[in-house]
Amino acid sequence: MALYADLHRHLGGALHPRIIYKFLQRHDHPVLGYFPDYDGFYNWFTRPCRTLEEFVKIHTLVEELQSFEHLPYFCLRLCRGAYTFENLQYLELRYNPYFRTDKSLSQAKRIGQMKAIVEVISANLRPAEYPITVKQIICLDRRLPPHINDAILKVAKDNLGPVVGIDLAGPEINPGEFDEWVKMMGKARAAGLKTTCHLGETGIENVHEKYFLVLDRIGHGIHIPLLKPEMLKELARKQITLEVCPTSYRQTGVLKDLSDLRTVFDRCRKAGVAIAVCTDNPGRNPTPCTLPGEYERLIDHDVIDFAELKRIQNEAFRSAFGFVGTTRS
Ligand SMILES: [Zn+2]
Repeated sequence: MALYADLHRHLGGALHPRIIYKFLQRHDHPVLGYFPDYDGFYNWFTRPCRTLEEFVKIHTLVEELQSFEHLPYFCLRLCRGAYTFENLQYLELRYNPYFRTDKSLSQAKRIGQMKAIVEVISANLRPAEYPITVKQIICLDRRLPPHINDAILKVAKDNLGPVVGIDLAGPEINPGEFDEWVKMMGKARAAGLKTTCHLGETGIENVHEKYFLVLDRIGHGIHIPLLKPEMLKELARKQITLEVCPTSYRQTGVLKDLSDLRTVFDRCRKAGVAIAVCTDNPGRNPTPCTLPGEYERLIDHDVIDFAELKRIQNEAFRSAFGFVGTTRS
């Protein structure tokens, strides 16, 4: 049995909708007023959105459910599902700790609670029965003020080990602020963290060459080969890997068809830019959306062929932030 690595998966989008629905039932959650049966919830939860902003709104609901006391419940289920149904040997899970703090607390108290959030996640991503290695990437967010993002970076640094990297997430707003983010990423690197940013997912406006000085990988970045292929040379020189999440682009309205990814893969292949295929928010995609399913869909749409598949699967291990050891296959 081949075993795989997934480098781009959000905690808020990692869970099968049935797990979320059962959780809502268990807690008699008011949202069930809109969804008396599972099918209605499923259709709403997995429907394609017109924009990334619309997609992120549903994500926010799940983040609020994943509060301190409920994180063990969600962490166990996502580890066992990833190991059992997707054959994952290694997973990098990303999340924003601030969005999982108690909203009824003051901002200062919420910042203080982030430490406990990261610790409870670290403690619950190692289930004894499922030998999957899960490392964490902590997300900064373009919608949050600088002092909260600074505090998020600090909690990441303080948990180096279980936390292996930092990411910049949230809708692609305020492209002019790139200098601030480049500085943050530089600080993260100096502290021993690896770096990735959600860039070039919905357009090219946010992609600035200065990012290439401080990034190890780019979350998506598909608009670089699509709209600014001349930048690929620099990505290859810096050995920056693109994390490409095929089904996600259909769900967020970025691409109409997976065959649109042919240009992305062709141009990266020619320029020598590595791609790791990832899932982003598999729970939000129509079932079954698994990492092996993403590989199959890329072959189905003639984006890659079988000969390239093994190389792409190996690339995920090679570009991982915290993988040590050998791949099992
Ligand atoms: Zn993402």
